[in-house]
Amino acid sequence: MAIQPIRLFGDPILRKPALEVVDFDKELRRLVEDLTDTMLGAPGAGLAAPQIGVGLRVFTWYVDGEVGHLVNPRLDLSEEVQDGPEGCLSIPDLTFDCRRAFSVVAHGFDMHGEPVVVSGSDLLARAIQHETDHLDGVLFVDRLDTDARKAAMRAIRESEWFGLERPTVKVSPHATGGLGF
Ligand code: ZN
Repeated sequence: MAIQPIRLFGDPILRKPALEVVDFDKELRRLVEDLTDTMLGAPGAGLAAPQIGVGLRVFTWYVDGEVGHLVNPRLDLSEEVQDGPEGCLSIPDLTFDCRRAFSVVAHGFDMHGEPVVVSGSDLLARAIQHETDHLDGVLFVDRLDTDARKAAMRAIRESEWFGLERPTVKVSPHATGGLGF
């Protein structure tokens, strides 16, 4: 077990585009393990490496009882969209409706460097899009309409964890109704 502290909104690493993974080595396998343990411990439905302070293009998910991971993802999005509540482990306790593609085909690699294709719809598609955004320094509140984004920013500024380098009170469980990614 190697649960890492989850970086919160306001931490600059969440705004920095992550780098492509080049070395599929032991460190990478440990990163995937840390991401998985931290995600399951939160508990959350997904977690991207920048959220635990590592600027590499890797994320994990836990959706419909299945744990997975993807390295250097490239997404093909469906034209069909879904709209529904979404949360983020880096923005504890808050969920907002966010529009996403309904389904996604993700091309990437596993931790051993083998090419993989992951197809998903609904919640898995939402998780994969949310985590890929993290790798580009994008947070889901960026994707809300202007009014909803303003409301979200106000809620974030008013939350008790906002502005803390690290929560003095452990923000756990992350109350995002199983929608924390
Ligand atoms: Zn997130």
